[in-house]
Amino acid sequence: MDLHFGDSKPTDEERAAVDALLGPPDSAWEGSDDRTDTDLRWAKGGHTARGRRDQLLPGLHALNDRVGWISEGGLDYLCRRLTVPPAEAYGVATFYSMFSLKPRPRTVVRVCTDIACAGPSADLCTSLESRLGPADTPVEGGAVWERSPCLGLCERAPAALVIRAGTDADAVAAAADAAGSAGSAGSAGSAGSAGSAGSAPPETAVERPAVAAESGAYAVVAPATPHALVEAARDPGAAAAEPAPVGAVPQAGGPGRDRLALLHRVGRVDPASLDDYRAFDGYAALRRAFTLGPAGVIREVTDSGLLGRGGAAFPTGRKWQATAAQPDHPHYLVCNADESEPGTFKDRVLMEGDPYALIEAMTIAGYATGAHRGYLYLRGEYPRARRRIEHALAAARTRGLLGPDVLGQGYAFDIEVRRGAGAYICGEETAIFNSVEGYRGEPRSKPPFPVEKGLFGKPTVVNNVETLVNVLPVLTMGAEAYAATGTGASTGPKLFCVSGSVSRPGLYELPFGATLGELLRLAGQPDPERLRAVLLGGAAGGFVRPDELDIPLTFEGTREAGTTLGSGVVLALDDSVPLPRVLLRIAEFFRDESCGQCVPCRVGTVRQEEALTRLLDRRNGEAADTAADVALLREVGAAMRDASICGLGQTAWNAVESAIDRLGAYA
Ligand code: SF4
Repeated sequence: MDLHFGDSKPTDEERAAVDALLGPPDSAWEGSDDRTDTDLRWAKGGHTARGRRDQLLPGLHALNDRVGWISEGGLDYLCRRLTVPPAEAYGVATFYSMFSLKPRPRTVVRVCTDIACAGPSADLCTSLESRLGPADTPVEGGAVWERSPCLGLCERAPAALVIRAGTDADAVAAAADAAGSAGSAGSAGSAGSAGSAGSAPPETAVERPAVAAESGAYAVVAPATPHALVEAARDPGAAAAEPAPVGAVPQAGGPGRDRLALLHRVGRVDPASLDDYRAFDGYAALRRAFTLGPAGVIREVTDSGLLGRGGAAFPTGRKWQATAAQPDHPHYLVCNADESEPGTFKDRVLMEGDPYALIEAMTIAGYATGAHRGYLYLRGEYPRARRRIEHALAAARTRGLLGPDVLGQGYAFDIEVRRGAGAYICGEETAIFNSVEGYRGEPRSKPPFPVEKGLFGKPTVVNNVETLVNVLPVLTMGAEAYAATGTGASTGPKLFCVSGSVSRPGLYELPFGATLGELLRLAGQPDPERLRAVLLGGAAGGFVRPDELDIPLTFEGTREAGTTLGSGVVLALDDSVPLPRVLLRIAEFFRDESCGQCVPCRVGTVRQEEALTRLLDRRNGEAADTAADVALLREVGAAMRDASICGLGQTAWNAVESAIDRLGAYA
């Protein structure tokens, strides 16, 4: 593809997709074939031109969703509309795995082959090869299948996501969601329904042109079978409805359900009904926030001891205070909903099962930190979460819970959803800023920290979904009662994504302080004789041994044990799982996902993968060669940890190191 404006023209379909997002062009200067002399004297410059750069990612989505790939003519047209150099737009488009800049069929079947799905998906891929042909090769009927990193559906492995481009997309998506929503209310025995009096309009009635322009047809097939995938590849609309989100919460049917602070509404309320949400304590926390005032809210959050749940465990109250105190304005709030750590799916379940909780929590965070605009950066592979959130946002606006005067308190706040496009690194807080602003999702050097200069160069507070949702019990219970849960250094409840060799995989909520063994027993621990290892914290975390199940699941407890809670992943591996193959998969993942801007990570992740490949191939080889490769891994790992810009490079060697040191891999 040329990196300058070429002669290629957009098709009518591409032009329509971009115009549906941006509106019709003000002048034929913006990409028309027949410009007049008047048009040639018309131009936008300076701030007006730069001000729409943040529409680049939504524009790329619009093209990709409509046509299935991004052509030179389509990209050129988008660039002219946004005054973005094509070379830069090309660099952005190629950054994301969900976009294609080469022609491809409209239907793409993505099969997860990551850690939790690796075992079951091996047979699935073999079967697909025999039925549909090799991966990445178009098949008859206009589809292609490909291997994918984690899709965040680990409790239903093996998982697949079918995406079909086109304009009939919304009908398929809405039909699938309506079925899922009905299942949710029914299975939970909810008193409410989508048709509750005074509830929000049905999702299909939400009219937001920008959303329609971005829509694609999605079918989530999990657990996936070869037959179901072949059928879904022919027609995503014919795929079976996705199970209700409550299916991912094994505790929802248990006696302790009422004691859950974060998951108690999942399966009990209809996620499409604002009235249901309000009937279950919804918006009580926001009302209390308005009573306390911004400083009072920050005091409560600080006193609660709430630590960020994304892995860094930074005190939330301190972060909010630092943002609120910045003299520069406007302030922004960013909710990081781009969970892409292999094995993690907690944010998806929360957004699908209790979307209003996140919206209420974001409103409180915005109020406390002086932000009037929030961005919800949502993982691109979460179609149902997006529909549920978009619907909830529309309903909240209609009922005055978002907008110029929230709850009549004179506070203006609204939330915009920004969809990621398949880049793990965009879960890094500063990478989100670049992605939203229309640049490659590369992390920025810190300082300056986001609380000083974040999104659009302004003070920004970034929290992930779980952290924000914790603010609700902090305000409804009060800081003191909240802090009484858990341990002194790790307060409150914690969500754990349990998958792998357990009989009841899913999302579990436990107070901090429960042990790893207690959690695994709850999830149906495998035969203790067969348990080989547990991966804590995902690919960026570390392995522990079966004789270490008394590790307390707290920030301090895992730190003392020389491991990490990370994002809350708990992946059990029994003796049927080939550990060297798992380690190689982790290395492949980091090599793929490194943004490449700093050498230790860009080169180190490749060297790590090469060494692990040699170790796998040479299982019965020379001991001296094995020792040399292990030494090389240590050297490369130390360089990545010490000299990488961001957490990806700094943690890319963690799991491999723990496998060598704790599990005795390659000994
Ligand atoms: S550590 Fe890796 S992912 Fe992070 S900025 Fe450097 S190259 Fe990019």
